Amino acid sequence: MARKPMMAGNWKMNNTIAEAVVLTQEISNNFDREWPEDVDVVICPPYVDLKPAKTVLDFDKTKVAVNAQNVFWEPSGAYTGEISVPMIKEIGCAGSIVGHSERRELFGETNEDVNRKVKALVEAGLYAIVCVGESLGVRDDGTTEEYVTAQVRAAFAGVDAMDAQRCVVAYEPIWAIGTGRTATPEQAEAVCAAIRATLSELFGPAVAEEMRVLYGGSMNPANVEGLMAQPNIDGGLIGGASLKADSFIQLVKACL
Ligand code: PEP
Repeated sequence: MARKPMMAGNWKMNNTIAEAVVLTQEISNNFDREWPEDVDVVICPPYVDLKPAKTVLDFDKTKVAVNAQNVFWEPSGAYTGEISVPMIKEIGCAGSIVGHSERRELFGETNEDVNRKVKALVEAGLYAIVCVGESLGVRDDGTTEEYVTAQVRAAFAGVDAMDAQRCVVAYEPIWAIGTGRTATPEQAEAVCAAIRATLSELFGPAVAEEMRVLYGGSMNPANVEGLMAQPNIDGGLIGGASLKADSFIQLVKACL
């Protein structure tokens, strides 16, 4: 069965509630409200924007899902500043990004933390968009595939195939994020194929065939076609180009 592509917009720390409502409305207004069935469109706004964005999409009956950018693994308690899985679930989020390289690099998130977050999400019936990717140093050392597949193994340690199946992996080379420098389609495909081979070892070939592997890192309307033509790239995790409805919708259309 062919995998359904996914385009997920990671807004990062951008857009106040008022701005988020406008951008969500602009996204929602596309396709004459007849949202295509054959691509999953996801936006990941900051926490405070989740509910307003979801309200706009629900009101318009738009088939765009709202996911969080991060989540904590405990369900409640004395964890000042954190947001739990039940909290995002109540808003109507079906999932969350986990282990984005900015979380790993700027906030010290480890592979073990990522694994706890993945488990908390799947145990609550949600899914994770698990980000993995190498630095320029790792790429120059020639150990990219080893490094990235180790991140995949760590993220899914102790997760069973049934739960893993609804998760998504996003391959995001750190040197390509927000830099305007994209991995070539061949570079991205080689790592995404290695990720799928690892998923196959972990969960069996049938599950690995079902799981979506996205590319992220300066994906934009000019380079999306070459990336989407690769057999192991099932969509994108988009930063900068998801902050304008026009460019985001062009990326969605590239999946159709
Ligand atoms: C990201 O933040 O996940 C990302 C891929 O950003 P950008 O598209 O801006 O490189």
